[in-house]
Amino acid sequence: MTAPSSFLGPLARLRGRAARRDGSLALQDGSRVGVIGGGPAGSFFTIFLLAMADSLGLDLRVDIFEPRFFTHRGPAGCNHCGGIVSESLVQMLAAEGINLPPSVVQQGIDSYILHTDVGDVRIQSPRDEKRIAAVYRGNGPRESEPVEVAGFDRHLLDLSASQGARVVRKMAQSVEWIDGRPRVTCPDGSATDFDLLVVATGVNSQAMNLFSDAAHRFAAPATQRTFICEFRLGADVVRATFGTSMHVFLLDIPRLGFAAIVPKGEFVTLCLLGDDLDETLVENFLRSAEVQRCFPGGTIPPLACHCYPRINVEAATRPFGDRIVWIGDSGVARLYKDGIGSAYRTAKAAAKTAVFSGVSTEDFRRHFWPACRALDVDNMIARVVFGVTHLIQHSSVLRRGVVRMTAREQAQAGSDGQMSSVLWDTFTGSAPYRDILKRTMRPQFPVMLAWNVIAGSLPFGGASRRGRNHGE
Ligand SMILES: Cc1cc2nc3c(=O)[nH]c(=O)nc-3n(C[C@H](O)[C@H](O)[C@H](O)COP(=O)(O)OP(=O)(O)OC[C@H]3O[C@@H](n4cnc5c(N)ncnc54)[C@H](O)[C@@H]3O)c2cc1C
Repeated sequence: MTAPSSFLGPLARLRGRAARRDGSLALQDGSRVGVIGGGPAGSFFTIFLLAMADSLGLDLRVDIFEPRFFTHRGPAGCNHCGGIVSESLVQMLAAEGINLPPSVVQQGIDSYILHTDVGDVRIQSPRDEKRIAAVYRGNGPRESEPVEVAGFDRHLLDLSASQGARVVRKMAQSVEWIDGRPRVTCPDGSATDFDLLVVATGVNSQAMNLFSDAAHRFAAPATQRTFICEFRLGADVVRATFGTSMHVFLLDIPRLGFAAIVPKGEFVTLCLLGDDLDETLVENFLRSAEVQRCFPGGTIPPLACHCYPRINVEAATRPFGDRIVWIGDSGVARLYKDGIGSAYRTAKAAAKTAVFSGVSTEDFRRHFWPACRALDVDNMIARVVFGVTHLIQHSSVLRRGVVRMTAREQAQAGSDGQMSSVLWDTFTGSAPYRDILKRTMRPQFPVMLAWNVIAGSLPFGGASRRGRNHGE
């Protein structure tokens, strides 16, 4: 992998050398960097750090602590997730030289189908490109056939190792500070001191307890319980019934937030978000007619694999300190979408800071925190977007208007598809919430929506195209 060209310039070299000269909290030749967690955030960080350091001729030693091999099927080998990699992230990764091979991409997604009680509508990729990737985070569901190449996380971890990182197949059990440097101890008693410790543990382990040391003024992110399961249908049935679309549900079910079904080879993955998510909410969702009619014969098959992972819903407080930084889910992530993209952004900002500026609290505050802050501010806007979505979800009049407007946009070739692009970017994570909100504030958007709400409420207003050709 080559370093991004912007980091190769003389200015970058000078800044790097200056940082290494003037600060005691700067990485030097031979410095040791510990990364706890080999999910996307830990691997992205390592890949960027080593490439950037290489561009400056800086020799770093990186240890990634990750007990998982990502080769076991089922939850033990997996970092529980819907596995959607947005089109913008696929492109950004390709620009960085990180290409996802066909063995990792289970399915290219070219459209979304929005299912509601007042009709379904297909939203085609705005650029008509099949760029969204559906991946497994482990080696497939519990009941899947063993495959040669493991999923997304293993692919990135192998890339990190090929860049020169050492993958330590152990859990980090404790972190203590010795002479101002972090020391990581593993269950077998082995201990290593580092010049920089990067925490990329996500929010689904007890790892946050490692940092109760108040000196860092770090507070863990707030999280919410979610539900993920896989259904085994066979590749032919998946192709025939779910096609190459992600299926999103806007249903008026109490406590239900977001729900989506993603086709992946011979399985489909269901992800549910909601308030106080429990078995009752899952059952209510699976019992709804809109969900049942997606499956062959209207019958929901048995679950092949399921889990209730947590998701980051509110940024950690001060996810940095002297010689320590929290990235990915354990720090800040975009609300309800593009978690892998957030891991990419925060990992890159942390790596850039460590190589070109330094590893002190002040360095991270000035150069790393702005990337986190941008996500955090966007999450405030996201709450407005989800507030509006919530209103639509619980008002059949509004739902009719939304479905009608989208269906008409999709039927018109060359239409600028205002509602379609808003829905597409809300579901895919391809654009920040700020951009989505801006688009809804253009004067023609509320006018068109109001017109479609009124027209959809009239007898023969053409709102409902239930079950027919997805709004085409
Ligand atoms: C229901 C659901 C659906 C989602 N769908 C999507 C989606 O479709 N697209 C998307 O982009 N994002 C999605 N996300 C979010 C995405 O899963 C996360 O944002 C992303 O995995 C964060 O990456 P990470 O590397 O920060 O953490 P993780 O992926 O959680 O990785 C953390 C790693 O740290 C390791 N670890 C933990 N503790 C220790 C320790 N003490 N020592 C050593 N290693 C340790 C773990 O084994 C793990 O491998 C979804 C999340 C949920 C809950």
